[in-house]
Amino acid sequence: MHEMSICESLIQIIEGEAAAQKFKQVLAICLEIGPLAGVELEALHFSYDVVTRGTLAEKSRLEVIELPLNAWCMPCSKNVDVKQRFDACPDCGSYQVQITGGDELRIKNMEVN
Ligand SMILES: [Zn+2]
Repeated sequence: MHEMSICESLIQIIEGEAAAQKFKQVLAICLEIGPLAGVELEALHFSYDVVTRGTLAEKSRLEVIELPLNAWCMPCSKNVDVKQRFDACPDCGSYQVQITGGDELRIKNMEVN
C-alpha cells in the first residue's frame, strides 16, 4: 500500500528532526497533500496509526490540508485553481489550461514536545 510507505518515510523524517531538534514526542503533524498525489486519506490515517505505534509519534494527531489543483491559464496568463485535470479555467472558460501542481505531499508543521 502506497500510504504505508508514505507514513514510513514520514516517521524517518520525524525521527531525523527529533534527533536534530531534541524533541521526544510528536503531538501532531500537519501535511499538505495535493489532489494528484494519489493519496487515499482514509488509508493514510489507518497507516499512520499502524506505523507510528511504538515510535515517538505514537497517538499523535495527523492533520491533512488538501491543496487545490494549480494550473496556468494561457488566455488569462495567470495561475488559477481548478477542481480536476482537464477542467476549464474558472475565469475565462478556456481549456488551454496547464496543470502546474497538485502532486505535493509535504509536512506543513509539527507540534512537538
Ligand atoms: Zn482563463
